Amino acid sequence: MKLFNTETKEKEEIIPSEGNIIRMYTCGPTVYNYAHIGNFRTYVFEDLLRRSLKFFGMQVIQAMNITDVEDKTIRGALAEKVSLKTFTQKYTTAFFEDLKELGIEPVEHYPLATDYIGKMIEIIEKLIQEGVAYKGTDGSIYYNIAKFPSYGRLSHLQLCDLQAGASKRAAADEYDKEHVSDFALWKMYDPERDGDIFWESPFGKGRPGWHIECSAMAMQILGYTIDIHVGGVDNMFPHHENEIAQSEAFSKQRFVRYWLHVEHLLVEHRKMSKSAGNFYTLRDLLAQGFTGQQVRYMLMQVHYRTQMNFTLEGLHAAAKSLQRIEDFILRLKSLHTMGSSGLVEPILKKTHQAFSEALSDDINISLAFGALFEMIRQLNTLADEEKVSREDAQKTLDFLSQIDQVLGVLPLSTKQADLGEDLLLLLGKREEARVAKNWKEADACRDLLLSKGFCIEDTPTGARLKKKDIK
Ligand SMILES: [Zn+2]
Repeated sequence: MKLFNTETKEKEEIIPSEGNIIRMYTCGPTVYNYAHIGNFRTYVFEDLLRRSLKFFGMQVIQAMNITDVEDKTIRGALAEKVSLKTFTQKYTTAFFEDLKELGIEPVEHYPLATDYIGKMIEIIEKLIQEGVAYKGTDGSIYYNIAKFPSYGRLSHLQLCDLQAGASKRAAADEYDKEHVSDFALWKMYDPERDGDIFWESPFGKGRPGWHIECSAMAMQILGYTIDIHVGGVDNMFPHHENEIAQSEAFSKQRFVRYWLHVEHLLVEHRKMSKSAGNFYTLRDLLAQGFTGQQVRYMLMQVHYRTQMNFTLEGLHAAAKSLQRIEDFILRLKSLHTMGSSGLVEPILKKTHQAFSEALSDDINISLAFGALFEMIRQLNTLADEEKVSREDAQKTLDFLSQIDQVLGVLPLSTKQADLGEDLLLLLGKREEARVAKNWKEADACRDLLLSKGFCIEDTPTGARLKKKDIK
């Protein structure tokens, strides 16, 4: 399996450093609000990557941090006059609910930053001893990037460009306001800003900087060298660059073997923002009647290194594609022909081959879905010719559940019977009326079904129900 490594700018064969175990670290959410769909694009990709690695026989040990201490969580807790724990707990719970809704499988470790303050202090102490970190005039501890010669190697920036900005070092370490400069490892306590939220340390009261949190959790849980590190492209600089500088100056070992970055998500071709009115959380979309499965499919279908433009029309189209798959699955479940024509198995084999090849090439998801839809097209044609037996249909369903271990989005559990007794009775009544040439009655049944969101499809094996097309 090959993946594009941001650091080398090349697709590289993924070889675990130990046996078949992949140690993977993925930057998690800052729990001060509900995560938005741009965040979820990254998390859905990370899930797809994790499932793909497993599909190719690797064992994955993954950690995703929960950032429950930094400027925004402290500000939120103080504004609501609750403890930091109470404030962040609410959004942490919401985050896990959202992951479940999107079919993202649980990973092995979800460390909370506040549980790793001891490790952060240990790393900072060593960095001070090594002369890489120093106390600033404001009492905070800073990392001196000039002492780390390969700084910039991930984002391919030159140290001289970075040093130009060093004099403008900002006191605030809020990552989105942080510029090319030395960065805070430990932020000195400021009662006005931090209320009663602080930790004791050998460098005085305060709290950790955001970047050191990931280094501490990654090294403590996964070891000094991790195989794959993933994050959004907006975290590449400075966050991931700083993670490398801190971790490698501490451990004297290579921190990450393969770096992967997920591109931005735009909404209607613009950066998503609350003021522009194009800001969506997952909850906003669920409230509009979309399902987590539909949102997952939409977020997944664009290659992770390509910028994605989200629109509601795009989401409707995604819902329609999923419905095509669902119709196909319902059809497979209704086939009763005995004796295989022998035509289905070669198609499944070819699809499996194309699907695996697509995934192994830097998760080429468009090709993978292309192979799936081509298979559906071919099998639908064969089914029209009554060349798909019950046995063939079962093999196809088994194949679909196999590839759904990776996709996590196929509506495999839908059954014609799930449609409900009353709908099936109505379908039967319409059939009887049709045979008796009672057109008025037949039409009335059809209209009633339509009003319930179903249309009738006449097939060689009898009439069946199909969910009405989504507008
Ligand atoms: Zn991180």
